[in-house]
Amino acid sequence: MQDISDFSAQMDNGSSSAPSKRLEGKVAIITGGASGIGAATVKRFHENGAKVVIADVQDKIGQALADKLGDSNVCYIHCDISNENNIIDLVDTTVTKYGKLDIMYNNAGIMDRNFGSILDTPKSDLERLLMINTVGSFLGAKHAAKVMVREKINKGCILFTASACTEIGGLCSPAYGVSKYGILGLVKNLAAELGQYGIRVNCVSPYGLVTGMSRNKGVDPATIEAKLSEMGNLRGVVLKAEGIANAALYLASDEASYVSGQNLVVDGGFSSVNPTIM
Ligand code: NAD
Repeated sequence: MQDISDFSAQMDNGSSSAPSKRLEGKVAIITGGASGIGAATVKRFHENGAKVVIADVQDKIGQALADKLGDSNVCYIHCDISNENNIIDLVDTTVTKYGKLDIMYNNAGIMDRNFGSILDTPKSDLERLLMINTVGSFLGAKHAAKVMVREKINKGCILFTASACTEIGGLCSPAYGVSKYGILGLVKNLAAELGQYGIRVNCVSPYGLVTGMSRNKGVDPATIEAKLSEMGNLRGVVLKAEGIANAALYLASDEASYVSGQNLVVDGGFSSVNPTIM
């Protein structure tokens, strides 16, 4: 029998580069693009030929990423996605700079402060999660769709990052779960509404990834990986942000031209093996 480490060496994180430029000629906005999944997707879209706007509230690292990629096909714009005027400016500036908008990836999001139980979740925490994760994603989709429809964009694409907590109970707090379930509601209804304009709408749902979000919570990467392995996750494979970026690349590319209204769960099978972890 082949040793598991042989498989993991071949399969680890799916970070191999695509052979061709799959987004040549496309213009994309990636919210939350300064860090984690967003930053990995910025790099992946950029190396696949897209012009990319990094939108975030972390100006220093967002600008540093744009500088590092170092050409006129990438730029950073400050945008708090919960502020509708910021979103309108983001979309307008993108169209002024690059001439159009093909792909809007509404990826920015926050976690709650203490993975709280409903019994002690303050209403203000729920409101903050909804305002950024759900309302912010809604506003991004709204203003991107407006410009795509107005400019008669051929094959527009709207993407979101939800979470595998939309598939399995007990992975997150109820408040975070509500904010991410809202995104599934958007995906289904926008796919139905915007299909007539040729706009596809999908989301990616990760689980088991150590990013700025989990690091800020003091979660030890090794602990997460050990827990996933113990619970029957795909053994020998570690999910990195690039694994989610690859899923987003597929959904954004013409290879997914008939895929709309879908939630692509990237969790190594975790939610299939564990219908609930409670
Ligand atoms: P991250 O913290 O590294 O990245 C999130 C980014 O969003 C940060 O750069 C942050 O500054 C930005 N952001 C936060 N609030 C914002 C706002 N109001 N306006 C604009 N930008 C804002 O974490 P990540 O894991 O890369 O998270 C990306 C997305 O993935 C989030 O929506 C998150 O909920 C989702 N997600 C992550 C995981 C995981 O395992 N890491 C699992 C499920 C879902």
